Amino acid sequence: QSLNTIKKRGKLIIGTEPTFPPFEFVDEKNQIVGFDIDIANELAKRLGVKLEIVSLPFDSLIPALQQGKIDLIIAGMTITEERAKVVDFSKPYFEANQALVVRGDSKFQPKKIEDLVGKKVAVQLGTTGDLVVSEVKGIEVVRFQKFTDAFLELQNGRVDAVVLDEAPAKAYVKKFPKFILSAVIDTGETYGIAVKKGNRELLNFVNQTLDILKSTGVYNRLLQKWFE
Ligand code: GLN
Repeated sequence: QSLNTIKKRGKLIIGTEPTFPPFEFVDEKNQIVGFDIDIANELAKRLGVKLEIVSLPFDSLIPALQQGKIDLIIAGMTITEERAKVVDFSKPYFEANQALVVRGDSKFQPKKIEDLVGKKVAVQLGTTGDLVVSEVKGIEVVRFQKFTDAFLELQNGRVDAVVLDEAPAKAYVKKFPKFILSAVIDTGETYGIAVKKGNRELLNFVNQTLDILKSTGVYNRLLQKWFE
């Protein structure tokens, strides 16, 4: 997918997983919106093409990129060494940590990952949250493709906690006051936009656009729009 192929095709095809507010989620009008989607729109606009959003399970995004089904991944995806072996990441565009969410009416208030030992914990399959809890012995990890399903299980009492990135954790807690954020785990993650390994041209374009969005104040405006 050279820039020319994308321009000729007339659309930029991005892959994302839309249960991750405020980065990407389905709104009342049934549209996928969010901070990442606005950045993707800026990328498309600057290429003079339309934006097409492909919604996929999080763990299918990298395979879809490798198979050329999408041009880039923008999904609050943490830049990790493992992933960087198989895709190329843009400069970091957001900082993140993991968070523990529990029911507000339960006495269980975990403050660290080890407090989850002996408990049932919901995560999204293939995320850094999945990795963090899977590393600790004795946690019963239940993996979901959608965070909305993970929170349904928490609500129904079938799991004791959900582990996910801090900003979406806050968004879910705000939307469903029966949940509380019981701790933030400092994992020091950063998000990157992923392109197919070796696609230097698209990567440079993404990096240049991120620079422009920052220097022109668009990036800050988007932060205010989605994180107030
Ligand atoms: N930042 C986390 C990861 O990359 C979660 C991303 C997500 O669920 N969309 O694994």
